[in-house]
Amino acid sequence: MIPDEDFIKDPDIPGPTKEEIRCLVICKSGVSKEDTVVDVGCGTGGLTLEFARKAGKVYAVDKNPNAIKITSRNLKKHGLEDNVKLITGSAPRVFDELPNFNILMVGGSSGELSAIIEEGYKKLNHHGKIIVTAILLETRLEAILNLRKIGLTPDIIDVHISKGKMIKRGTMMEGKNPVAIISAKKE
Ligand code: SAH
Repeated sequence: MIPDEDFIKDPDIPGPTKEEIRCLVICKSGVSKEDTVVDVGCGTGGLTLEFARKAGKVYAVDKNPNAIKITSRNLKKHGLEDNVKLITGSAPRVFDELPNFNILMVGGSSGELSAIIEEGYKKLNHHGKIIVTAILLETRLEAILNLRKIGLTPDIIDVHISKGKMIKRGTMMEGKNPVAIISAKKE
């Protein structure tokens, strides 16, 4: 995984997704060179860059042009731009421009999660996966309910990471915000 501090950051753009969370997302996705990935809400590019290292093709989508700019800079910094297409636009509308895919990663949805899951499912290949990372309780529930609505059985993990920080007297464990990773496979 790419260390968090190796990403160029913009104070107005969220991300990158923390290294340990990226690690679990990549693991759960089971991504390989045969896969086409769509990363909805690429933000700083945290997940886009990790998928770019392992997938055949990645479509990184964000409605915020500044997020696309920062993701582009991070891809160049790490020499990973060859198999990534950047798209400024809002999901699910942008799905019309995309080919079918094997992995739908949703890291941002701004109230459109239900439509993103429903429309994304139509373009998802057989045995493809939908993965949602959720910070808000409401997003967790929305993801679970909508995945069940289309007949999938979601796998849900809630990840609480604490990182050791050196202080004078020893090592203090500093808790990071919990993130849920909700994933489901199209059978
Ligand atoms: N996974 C990213 C961080 C995601 S932040 C990383 O690791 O760097 C969430 C992003 O989702 C924001 O940049 C926001 O602009 C974007 N977003 C929210 N709703 C969206 C939608 N419907 N379509 C496209 N992008 C969206």
